Amino acid sequence: MYTDFALRQALDRYRDYPSLALCYDIACQYWKNIGARFKLSFPDFVDAVSRMRYFVPKLHAYGHTDSCRYQYALDFATGVGRTHGERIESSWAEANLSGPSTSEMNAGHRRDVLAAYYNFWNFNQLVLLGEVSVGVGISTNQFCSSVP
Ligand SMILES: [Zn+2]
Repeated sequence: MYTDFALRQALDRYRDYPSLALCYDIACQYWKNIGARFKLSFPDFVDAVSRMRYFVPKLHAYGHTDSCRYQYALDFATGVGRTHGERIESSWAEANLSGPSTSEMNAGHRRDVLAAYYNFWNFNQLVLLGEVSVGVGISTNQFCSSVP
């Protein structure tokens, strides 16, 4: 139910897009009754979720059956680029370090601190992506280890 609500919020501005793709750790199970759930809770979004294609992120796919790995693989899909679907989780290990301090903050302060953290994370990714793109000699390992 919470995931449905989050998806509905995410689709708010994109539901009319002709091609929609959802990459989710349990997409192989999640999509099965999504039409019925959305018909009940978010009827304006039923068309969007029925047009959506569902994928399992590449690292999570190892925990699924062989059938899932092929049926929900990003590798065999068009229009999704070469993504692995795990990008959002790459900052979590670092972000977890802020837990002890942010848990002591009031909601507004916590929100500001976490927004600053993620803005800084995103900014550094963009800066380093530019360095990688122009070929300044930074290796993939250096890139990954230098992103805070
Ligand atoms: Zn599966």
